[in-house]
Amino acid sequence: MSREYTKEEFDRYVSAVKSWLYKFGISGWNIDFKQRNIGDLISANTTYNTVSRNVCFQLAEVQTGEYCLHDDMNLLALHEVLHLLLADVIWTTKETQDDAHDLVIAKEHEVINRLMGVLK
Ligand SMILES: [Zn+2]
Repeated sequence: MSREYTKEEFDRYVSAVKSWLYKFGISGWNIDFKQRNIGDLISANTTYNTVSRNVCFQLAEVQTGEYCLHDDMNLLALHEVLHLLLADVIWTTKETQDDAHDLVIAKEHEVINRLMGVLK
């Protein structure tokens, strides 16, 4: 089952991301928001560069799949902001081409899911 995200949902997503960034005290990033196709079964994602401090929060145009968060803009936003909160940790293993990078990426979602269980 799929449907398009509305402009109103995108606006709520943007507001929710800004709100979570504020709550976590995350600043100093050049922030961009986009709504576009970002791949099958992906409702939202975040791309960033910890050196240039550029980050782009993206919401899909079409919602697909059964991901339980995809109708809740606040939780989608929280999930993506937590990715940014952990960005410097994740970037470190990537930049050093550490063999553990894939493992760190896998653990990142474990940590995010635990945090979301408390914060939502
Ligand atoms: Zn994620």
